[in-house]
Amino acid sequence: EVEFDHIDKYFGETHVLKDVSLAVDDGEVVVVVGPSGSGKSTLLRCTNRLEEIQNGEIRIEGQAITNPDVDVNQLRQHIGMVFQSFNLFPHKTAMENVALGPKVVKDFSNDDAEKWAKAMLDRVGLTDQAHKYPNQLSGGQQQRVAIARALAMDPSVMLFDEVTSALDPELVGEVLEVMRNLAEEGMTMLVVTHEMGFAREVGDRVVLMSEGRIVESGPPRDFFANPETERARQFLARVH
Ligand code: ATP
Ligand code: MG
Repeated sequence: EVEFDHIDKYFGETHVLKDVSLAVDDGEVVVVVGPSGSGKSTLLRCTNRLEEIQNGEIRIEGQAITNPDVDVNQLRQHIGMVFQSFNLFPHKTAMENVALGPKVVKDFSNDDAEKWAKAMLDRVGLTDQAHKYPNQLSGGQQQRVAIARALAMDPSVMLFDEVTSALDPELVGEVLEVMRNLAEEGMTMLVVTHEMGFAREVGDRVVLMSEGRIVESGPPRDFFANPETERARQFLARVH
């Protein structure tokens, strides 16, 4: 479970997250939508302390991760984050990219790390691509390697920030499919995306952010069919 408890985030004078409260239950998929600059990425980045908050608290499994004494490196092992850009190591194979974390951080032997990496690549449908280098893979495949790499740390929550936005349209589906499978396996997920189909079909809840606030939150069915706020109606009119 991830809980955002009345958090505020400022960049200098700019107030970018305003009294945000949100709880993502175990096994729940919460999809965050909203216009550019509304604070979606910042919310995710605060969750693994890539950004610091100024007020409130973020808790994961009940532990306040925003306390100054929290070991940030240890924290990040329990949070899988995938971005728009895959940032794979170009001179390592898919397998080596995925095995690196378990080897270095979890002290897996080479053999165990490889077996584990293989299992993660199976999970994202890349069984046959393990020995390829990133430049030998399509963008969709590279993004799936990035997801496998995050999964290799056995995270308790996965954060996705517009992971399909940089992909050619025909490659979007295979990445969303992997995310859908993860959701069905019961992964706890916080997903920022412009893919409204994914939000509708896979999300347990949709959260709309606007100007640093959560302005509407509800099950996809209600959010898309019966938005409560004018903000949500405007947003939906633009994305449909
Ligand atoms: P997009 O849909 O374009 O990705 P977003 O909802 O993810 O937008 P954020 O990237 O979280 O928005 O940005 C929220 C606000 O914080 C914006 O006004 C942005 O300009 C500002 N901001 C983000 N990062 C920084 C930074 N490092 N320094 C200063 N301001 C920042
Ligand atoms: Mg963003």
